Amino acid sequence: MPTILFAAPSLWPEYREALPQALAEAGLAGDVVTEAAPDQVDYIVYAPSSPLQDFTPYTRTKAVLSLWAGVERVVGNPTLIQPLCRMVDPGLTEGMVEWVVGHTLRHHLGMDRHIVNPGHVWDPTCPPLARERPVTLLGMGALGTACAAALRGLNFPVTGWSRTAKPGCLHGEDGLRQALATAQVLVTLLPRTAETENLLNADRLALLPRGAVILNPGRGALIDDAALLAALDRGHIGHATLDVFRIEPLPPDHPFWSHPQVTVTPHIAADTRASSAARVLAENIRRGEAGEPFLHLVDRQRGY
Ligand code: NAP
Repeated sequence: MPTILFAAPSLWPEYREALPQALAEAGLAGDVVTEAAPDQVDYIVYAPSSPLQDFTPYTRTKAVLSLWAGVERVVGNPTLIQPLCRMVDPGLTEGMVEWVVGHTLRHHLGMDRHIVNPGHVWDPTCPPLARERPVTLLGMGALGTACAAALRGLNFPVTGWSRTAKPGCLHGEDGLRQALATAQVLVTLLPRTAETENLLNADRLALLPRGAVILNPGRGALIDDAALLAALDRGHIGHATLDVFRIEPLPPDHPFWSHPQVTVTPHIAADTRASSAARVLAENIRRGEAGEPFLHLVDRQRGY
């Protein structure tokens, strides 16, 4: 019977029942504990904010299973030599799709004009149809692919860009230029890595059509903050809706809070949901026990 150390203390109340239940549903007997002798631990359920930072004593641990989708805070830990799996959770994906579609529709339909209309102005300008509003997604992984499908379902023409070549998706520097050039709405769903840091710098922001809207639920470091503010100030970027920031919580004096063309959401685009995430953990533990390959393994070299 494997010993599973739950090493994300603040999340324990959510998983205390959900994880043993998911293990039972997967036909597994497992001992889920919040404390154990390191050399007795088979699996570690982990969050990067955990006090556990030195994995050296966990000599028999078969895998570290992160509850977070983004792994930039743990992938460079030199003591973590065990397989590291990130969270790909159907509940989290659903949440991200809803956030991206909701904020795309807000801008597409010009909802703000009608929600905040103190002068009671009768402006009968009709918004274009979705089919006339190109959307670009930077990052076509688990989340980007699901968001693209939902947006295409509403008839938005969607261009995707990823690191590697894949059908129907642009890649490389030329692909990025092409993807930016048409983006009336730009959604960034990339991981934070050395390659993606400041990907949207002044030069690349300038490639977007005038008035483009940016939605960033990926990571704050994907965008050069100063370049974004400058592009907003001169009206080149019409609006930025930002869920993630270099420093979180966003400091009270950060200019994003007060900029009239910026909407701040407090890293709530998509949360891991215990009910569905527990099943993902159980499936990976089942795989580990059966000697099958783990799902959602992180590649240390590429950093995601
Ligand atoms: P994923 O499945 O690993 O997908 C990442 C995508 O980014 C892939 O398409 C990948 O390309 C692409 N990519 C990576 N590096 C690239 C580069 N240098 N150039 C071009 N494309 C690159 O990740 P995911 O599950 O979709 O999650 C994406 C990110 O969303 C996470 O890393 C996290 O930062 C963020 N997130 C935010 C929230 C929130 O609440 N705001 C919640 C969850 C996740 P390939 O397909 O070619 O590998």
